[in-house]
Amino acid sequence: MILIRNVRLVDAMGERGPLDVLIGEGRILSLEGGEAQRVVDGTGCFLAPGFLDLHAHLREPGEEVKEDLASGLLAAVRGGYTDVVSMPNTKPAVDAPEVVRALKRKAEGLRLARLHPAAALTLGQEGKELTEVGPLKEAGAVLLTDDGRTNEDAGVLAAGLLMASPLGLPVAVHAEDPSLRRHGVMNDGALADLLGLPGNPPEAEAARIARDLEVLRYARRRSQATPRLHVQHLSTRRGLELVREAKRAGLPVTAEATPHHLSLTEEALKGFDPLFKVAPPLRTEEDREALLEGLLDGTLDAIATDHAPHTLAEKEGDLLRAPFGIPSLEVAFPLLYTELHLKRGFPLPRLVALFTDGPRRVLGLPPLHLEEGAEASLVLLCPKERPVDPTAFASKAKYSPWAGWVLGGWPVLTLVEGRIVHEALE
Ligand SMILES: [Zn+2]
Repeated sequence: MILIRNVRLVDAMGERGPLDVLIGEGRILSLEGGEAQRVVDGTGCFLAPGFLDLHAHLREPGEEVKEDLASGLLAAVRGGYTDVVSMPNTKPAVDAPEVVRALKRKAEGLRLARLHPAAALTLGQEGKELTEVGPLKEAGAVLLTDDGRTNEDAGVLAAGLLMASPLGLPVAVHAEDPSLRRHGVMNDGALADLLGLPGNPPEAEAARIARDLEVLRYARRRSQATPRLHVQHLSTRRGLELVREAKRAGLPVTAEATPHHLSLTEEALKGFDPLFKVAPPLRTEEDREALLEGLLDGTLDAIATDHAPHTLAEKEGDLLRAPFGIPSLEVAFPLLYTELHLKRGFPLPRLVALFTDGPRRVLGLPPLHLEEGAEASLVLLCPKERPVDPTAFASKAKYSPWAGWVLGGWPVLTLVEGRIVHEALE
């Protein structure tokens, strides 16, 4: 039994407390205290349901030099995540049930965050032949995606949506038109011209989202069940407007945004530092403001990290050749707690919802609230500020675009079904 004393509770429903939360048998037993062997003082801190990340690249199998399940899932619990969806663009791609099963088995043995593998929509993520959805779902896959690549063949995407819909699996898309994106390494526009860097236009994202929404319309018309399309790492104002219109029209679409698109802009590329090279690229302040509105009005369902570790050598190289992506599992919540809630007054329950109920809904999971009887997958977050120190990351990628940023809201205790998986109490 664990007792967290005098702690505020924050979930998607709102804020309460301070209360005394008694945890045992994997559940919240009481919000009115009780006897426990372990007592944690929660004064000044707040308790939230454990976070779910819809989009993490854990690199196993095949690229363990960048990350593996052990380092990635440790990074996750340090970031307050109790559940992680791993992307299938590994080597080989996660496109067969036995790979999904092997990943799940290994993750269970680590006893850190729970792993929910996404499986490839097409064999080898080559965009041609669909994977076997039924056996993949049975093995534990929660989502289908060719993320890392885009789905060029609209007919294959439609067939994938039709096949996945009776099983209730969402299909997630990396929405960029490669023929417009070409070799762009940053947002296309005046700044890219000034820096002499090849641009990736916002229209590459918007054009692909528009197409994918039409594919979804078609699949919905042809399916008995509800096909669900999830737009990954949405980065542009125009892309956001398209999703908003589609939602208003009742299309079953959901969308996520990343911590980097919510906290940084293309201005970061001025120093030609490959650290800031991501796909889709960092956009303009106008785009960022639009995303923040989308978080508030429900156009965006989730904040997902797109945690994408690479070796330091790769990220220190030439900007044109460096790979896309940054690690963010360990900083996502403190970053947005500080930048959005503390500095801009973004409502805390809504922020927590974007890390909990929002992503859970994308996967079709029930909401997780802080009430008696609820599963004790929880995170305790404290306001004490400290600078981001990537050298202390559990992730193998020990660098960060936010290095030195002073943030509050760090997870000091993470529990999965009542079991402590991360502890950094003072
Ligand atoms: Zn992607």
